[in-house]
Amino acid sequence: MSALSAFLVLPALLAAPAQAAPAPEQQGGHRWVDPRPSTAKLAFELHKLRLFSRGAVQVSPIGRSNEGRPVWSARVGHGPLRILYLTQQHGNEPLGTPAALEFLRETGLGNSPYQRWLRSRVTVDIVVRANPDGHERNWRYNYAPEADPEFGEPGKGYDINRYHNPELAPEDNPATEAGLIQRHYAGFQPDIVVDYHMQGRYRDDAGRELTGSVKWPTHPEVAERAVTLSKQVTVVAAAAMNAAGGNISQYPGGNYQGIARNAYGLRGSGSVLVELSAMPAEHEQAQIRRATHAMLAVARGTANGSLRKIDPEAAERIPPRGEPIGAARTADSA
Ligand SMILES: [Zn+2]
Repeated sequence: MSALSAFLVLPALLAAPAQAAPAPEQQGGHRWVDPRPSTAKLAFELHKLRLFSRGAVQVSPIGRSNEGRPVWSARVGHGPLRILYLTQQHGNEPLGTPAALEFLRETGLGNSPYQRWLRSRVTVDIVVRANPDGHERNWRYNYAPEADPEFGEPGKGYDINRYHNPELAPEDNPATEAGLIQRHYAGFQPDIVVDYHMQGRYRDDAGRELTGSVKWPTHPEVAERAVTLSKQVTVVAAAAMNAAGGNISQYPGGNYQGIARNAYGLRGSGSVLVELSAMPAEHEQAQIRRATHAMLAVARGTANGSLRKIDPEAAERIPPRGEPIGAARTADSA
């Protein structure tokens, strides 16, 4: 069996429900989802979810951005296995945020046997739009125009996803929103962290456009247990997106410990980066759906135990990212 076909059989394995777990019901039609909800609309949607879920979705700010916007946490479920999703650390990488809203709808609204079972097994906390100031300006950084950041851009702000270093205390963190996430992580102690970003457009080695890329922590000091779990999460997320019509590669990321993928791996969590490709507008709904599927699959695979049975080395068989399509963006690294 070729490496590629070995990889393609995974969705079928993952779709098989584990013993005693109710089957997820058929998901509803593909309604249009706002790919870039405003800050006000995001708050409105989150509070609607809180209200209509009758408490199954809890919503609270983990703090405020430099400009005073709330950074929201939305939490669903009350199970012992804890999962943290992060979206939109980079303000101009929006699609993880609407995917998170869809995940919260599908898991939090309703009381089917499957939903009740899932919520009894896992607690999923999502920092929805970690960087609201960057979203407001449609740029990568937070808003700190007076700063001279080691990672970031003078006149703009810090690159939040370079300030998760475990050796950097939240109170000393110059990137406000990264400090909020560090504190939130320490309070929640998640088993798994998945961080949703967007990259430019790329092809695989066969010339087909990639819809996304994934990677586990590559810092050499991440404990083997955490690397194993990270690779298992990587495989589940990639398989779910491939099953939804995606074409996923590995992400060629570095070892720096300030990147969330490495930092939360160093702290012992299964830690994964998901990069959705910035495809043209007519593909955005599909891209949002793929990210939602990845979120649902990691939650389901954690809840029913199937994720821990995945061969971690299957992650190594995810193909590499190929050439960029058109002009490569300058700053699309994680
Ligand atoms: Zn990013």
